[in-house]
Amino acid sequence: MNLHDSEHIAGVLQSAGYRPVDAPEHAGVVVFNTCSVRASAEDRVWGNLGALASRDKRGIVAVCGCMAERLGSQILERSRVVDLVFSVGVLASLPELIDECAHSRMCETGNVQDASIDCLPTVRRGDRAAWVPVSHGCDNQCAYCVVPAVRGPERSRPSEEIVAEVEDLVGEGVLEVVLLGQNVNSYGRDLSGNATFASLLRDVCRVQGITRVKFETSHPRDLGEDILEVMGGEPSACEYLHMPVQSGSDRILAAMNRGYTRDGYLDLIETARRMVPGLTLTTDIIVGFPGETVEDYLMTRDLVLQASFDAAYVFLYSQREGTPAASMEGEVTEPEKHRRFEELVGLQDEITGNSLSMLVGTEQEVLVEGPARRGDLLSARTRGHRVVLIGAQDIRCPLPRVLITAAGRHALRGTAIDRSCARGQAG
Ligand code: SF4
Repeated sequence: MNLHDSEHIAGVLQSAGYRPVDAPEHAGVVVFNTCSVRASAEDRVWGNLGALASRDKRGIVAVCGCMAERLGSQILERSRVVDLVFSVGVLASLPELIDECAHSRMCETGNVQDASIDCLPTVRRGDRAAWVPVSHGCDNQCAYCVVPAVRGPERSRPSEEIVAEVEDLVGEGVLEVVLLGQNVNSYGRDLSGNATFASLLRDVCRVQGITRVKFETSHPRDLGEDILEVMGGEPSACEYLHMPVQSGSDRILAAMNRGYTRDGYLDLIETARRMVPGLTLTTDIIVGFPGETVEDYLMTRDLVLQASFDAAYVFLYSQREGTPAASMEGEVTEPEKHRRFEELVGLQDEITGNSLSMLVGTEQEVLVEGPARRGDLLSARTRGHRVVLIGAQDIRCPLPRVLITAAGRHALRGTAIDRSCARGQAG
């Protein structure tokens, strides 16, 4: 969601005549779009601001995003290098704010709930894939999470607006959209009428010319069979589900206020795999939540083995001020947290590696995203969101079919099966 907000920030600035440069030292304006979900993300921002402060010559420095919502003018007090703190609620006026703050440092944090940034200009990450927010904010109260406090309650966009945006994107050559929300599955509950995520997903999948539709993030409590039915039935709905489990212990799930049990989660993924053949399932896990005993942790490790996720993002619990978890007792020591983290990451790496190696020898349709870090290769994604590296000389269209030739720990290697383009998509 933050990355998509950054696309709007770039869009607003480019519309006002600004152009991107290749390094902060060449910039007249540097904008930090920040994340508050973990303390380490905020620490990185403070570190980067510190690095800018040591330079003699620098442009206007602005900070926005979740840190701006959370800390407001405290950022100006703590970092002398910052000229402007602003929230996405006032993003439309960013060019004017930049002009004003050149005279005097300022903090402009409008009400994030009033923000209607979806209609602002956008500079997208690529020509063929696009993020499309379906809702903003979150109505859940997970005990560790700062998002509802900084992003406000859930506000769903009207479905006609979303479908129209997807139609426009297809007109511009986009082949894949990723529908975004903190909890996409609860889409529409704040709208009048019968709007549900399942009906929205079906409408988007049926937009003429859209080839792939993905979405994230799913909350296990709100993922109904109606959504799985659309995923299994609509050809453009991709077989990809990112659904954070967070813990395998019912005691910790209750303390986290997640609203489901371990068995409920395991039943749900069994249903999802049955209704969506070939599903790629990924998850998020927190280790070291307050009160997590060795037994609780072992339940999580056991769930990881049982669920056999195709990938899992494991995080160390990070205490966030103002959340219910911040005042919970039973802090897990740092060494023990790290021990559990390392063990779980190692276990999941093995499972991920096995899951990737099962694809060797199969044919996959991939969407080319751009150059890989290794310059002579292209990075592409399967319908299940796996990264495939392919030789640039092999590819003449954005949606080629490839043969998977090898599997690494986190990515696949492939070669184009033939040089003609899948589904008539010319390059
Ligand atoms: S569902 Fe929970 S973890 Fe996700 S954004 Fe909402 S409160 Fe945070």
